[in-house]
Amino acid sequence: MSLHAFRSNRVVTPEGERPATILVEGETIRGVVSRGEIPTDISVKDFGEMAILPGLVDSHVHVNEPGRTEWEGFETATRAAAAGGYTLIVDMPLNCLPATTTVAALEQKRACARPSSRVDWALWGGVESNNQDHIAALAKAGVPGFKCFLVDPGIDGFTMASEQELRAALPHVAKTGLPLLVHAELGGPIEAASRGLANTDWRRYETYLRSRPDEAELAAIELLLTLCREYRFRLHVVHLATSKALDLLRAAKSEGLAVTVETCPHYLFFSAERIPEGATLLKCAPPIRTHENREKLWQGLREGLIELVATDHSPCPPKMKKLDEGNFRTAWGGVASLSVALPVMWTEAKKRGFSLEDIAHWMGEGPAKLAGFHKRKGKIAAGYDADFVVFDPETEFVLGAERLHYRHRISPYLGAKLAGIVQATYLRGQCVFSEGKFPGEPSGKEYRF
Ligand SMILES: [Zn+2]
Repeated sequence: MSLHAFRSNRVVTPEGERPATILVEGETIRGVVSRGEIPTDISVKDFGEMAILPGLVDSHVHVNEPGRTEWEGFETATRAAAAGGYTLIVDMPLNCLPATTTVAALEQKRACARPSSRVDWALWGGVESNNQDHIAALAKAGVPGFKCFLVDPGIDGFTMASEQELRAALPHVAKTGLPLLVHAELGGPIEAASRGLANTDWRRYETYLRSRPDEAELAAIELLLTLCREYRFRLHVVHLATSKALDLLRAAKSEGLAVTVETCPHYLFFSAERIPEGATLLKCAPPIRTHENREKLWQGLREGLIELVATDHSPCPPKMKKLDEGNFRTAWGGVASLSVALPVMWTEAKKRGFSLEDIAHWMGEGPAKLAGFHKRKGKIAAGYDADFVVFDPETEFVLGAERLHYRHRISPYLGAKLAGIVQATYLRGQCVFSEGKFPGEPSGKEYRF
């Protein structure tokens, strides 16, 4: 197979951002070289002052297919992913029907994803109240890890796991060596906080925020760390929203527990004080907290306590957001952001002195490592898949719906002024997105170890 090359003055490699040429053979990066080392007689695509980052990996996406394809589906979600600079998404086991809690359900989902995905994909398995006996089989069938809920997920088809049920599942999970991703909120503090709020104004964001206090996250994380000590499984806390847990997590890490942490763009961009009445597009769980809390989450990233940023792209049909009533109690919880996570993150990161290297670390290498895909995904280096985002970091734009390529083009970011435009995305050497278009047939494959 013949060599070809991509170059720019801003290639983001693990050794830093520098002028470089990426040599590609077929689907794989053969080397990253400087100008003098480019073989003669090969074609070089020169992106000049554009940055070239590794293809991003989103380890937290709800595709909802099969079963709720009217909410989202592999065709639309992977289109949105390609437009956002992602070359691999890992789908969550719930919100689809059946939930991915058995091998049969996993196979059904694979059959949906295979023909219609424009980026590579993998599927997390689910751990729920009573599927302990399916854990080993799911691992054998190729899931990269598992997801569970310590609180009612609020959707049919997937159940939470109580402490007792989790204890039944954990020896099986530990045996697989795969990570357990946990929605870390406990019901007790939420019920206690909600008791007094029945007659409160649920159009106000403050009411919703009070109903899901920091304590719900803190209590869940404390319980998980205790279980981690006991069962020695790989714990991953998804969508951390409270910065109050950072001290606990720092201590757990220095104790040597295998715990990793993620947060999401919406917790790093928005703050509770500025959420208008009725703005239910911003309802998610755990909730977006205060301005002060947001700054501490950025500190957590700076300190390396939070390893990765995933979108938790969780779309739904617009009517479920109850935009006309603006009721935070009854609206569906979930923020859709797959197409715009990179500019959203870059806008906020550069204000705080972070680099594109940091972005690549949080949105490429970090999630790839969580899923065990770090030998081929998430870096621009020899031997890795030729997955790239060509990104114009300097240009600002106001977000309009034409840039959202998922099924229902609603987003709390619409109208925001953002920095950085995804110009093109390359999946294993092939262009899958360029200037608003998606060339070629869907060529995404399941990533297997
Ligand atoms: Zn989620």
